Amino acid sequence: MNTAPQQNVFGLTATAFATAAAGLPGGRERALWVYREAWRGLRLPAELPTLWRTVFDDAVPEPLRQVEETTAAGTTVKCSVRLSDGLEIEMVRIPMRSGPEGAETCTLCLSSQVGCRLGCAFCETGRQGLVRQLTTAEIVGQVVAARRLGWQPRNLVFMGMGEPLDNADALIAALHVLTDTRGLDLARERLTVCTAGHAAGIARLAALGWRRLNLAVSLNATDDATRSRLMPINRRTPLAELQAALVAYPKRRNFALGVHWCLLPGINDSRADAARLAAFCAPLGRVMVNLIPYNPGSQPLTRAPEPAEIERFVAWLQEEKLPVRCRTPRGRSIMAACGQLGRPTESTASLP
Ligand code: SF4
Repeated sequence: MNTAPQQNVFGLTATAFATAAAGLPGGRERALWVYREAWRGLRLPAELPTLWRTVFDDAVPEPLRQVEETTAAGTTVKCSVRLSDGLEIEMVRIPMRSGPEGAETCTLCLSSQVGCRLGCAFCETGRQGLVRQLTTAEIVGQVVAARRLGWQPRNLVFMGMGEPLDNADALIAALHVLTDTRGLDLARERLTVCTAGHAAGIARLAALGWRRLNLAVSLNATDDATRSRLMPINRRTPLAELQAALVAYPKRRNFALGVHWCLLPGINDSRADAARLAAFCAPLGRVMVNLIPYNPGSQPLTRAPEPAEIERFVAWLQEEKLPVRCRTPRGRSIMAACGQLGRPTESTASLP
C-alpha cells in the first residue's frame, strides 16, 4: 500500500509528474496524458483509477469571499482563498483593456507567502510578519482557482501578499510549472515577478537566463536613509547593491524593467527625488516607472497625494526623460490596491 503523501498535480511539471507516476499503470505516455487532461479540465480526469488518486490530488486554494469594485477601468475583484491548513491569502483580478477591439481581459495578482517578513512601512501584509511560505502547488493553485471561477488571466504578476523572492525555491518551481508547454504553457513574457529589492533572488532569476521573464522592483526611494525607513530590506541590500543586481539581470531587446514608485507626499515626491530616480535608472537600460498614488491603510504614513501633486511628479519624471505610467489606484475602496492586501475587508460577499 502506498503510504507516501499525495502530490498535487498543479505543483509539478510534466516531467516531474511522469517521474512521480512511475510504476502506475500505463507508463510515461499515460502519465503525460493525465497531466495534459488535468490542465485542460483544471482537475484530474474523472475516469482516473483510484490507484492514481492515492498518489496525486488536484486540490487548489478554495475561494471564500469576493469583493468587487467597478470603475471606468473595469471590475477589480479581490478574492480571499483558504489554504488546506485554514490560513487565508488573497488574489486579485485586475481588469485590462487589451483584448481584440478593447475587450476586457485581466491580470491576476498572486500571493507567494502568508504574510511577509520584510515589513515595508506602507504595507498591510508586512504588519502580519511571515506566517508561512506558500508551496509551489499553492502558488500555481491560485491560477487554477481563478480559472475555475471563470477568470481568464492574460498576465500574471507576483505582487500579492509576500515577497516572491523570499520564497524563491517555490516561486521558481511555479514559474517552471506555469510555462510548461505540456501544461498551462504560459509565455514567459506574460509573467512578472515584482520584488522589494531582494538582490540574491534577482540573481537567481537571472541565472535562469529567461530573457522574456518580466521583472519589476518596488523602489520608492533613492537615498538609503529614506529607503531603509520605508523598506527595511534596504538595510541588508542598499541601493548600490540592488542597482548592481538589476544591471546584471538579462534583458531582451524590448525589455523594460518595471520600477514601482508609491508616491508618498512629503516623503518621496520632491523635484530632487525625481532627479535621483533618473540617476538610479540610468544604468538599467529601458525602464517603465509605475507611479502608484499612496493609499493610506490602517496606519497611514502620510496622506494620499492630490491629483495636482501626482501630475507635478509625473511632469518632473518626464523632464528627466523617464517613461512613466500612472497606475489608477484600482481597488482602493476594497483594499485591493498596492500594499493593502492582508487585512480584513470592510464588506465581503461569500461565495456559494
Ligand atoms: S510591500 Fe511586499 S515586500 Fe514589502 S512588506 Fe509588503 S508584501 Fe512584503
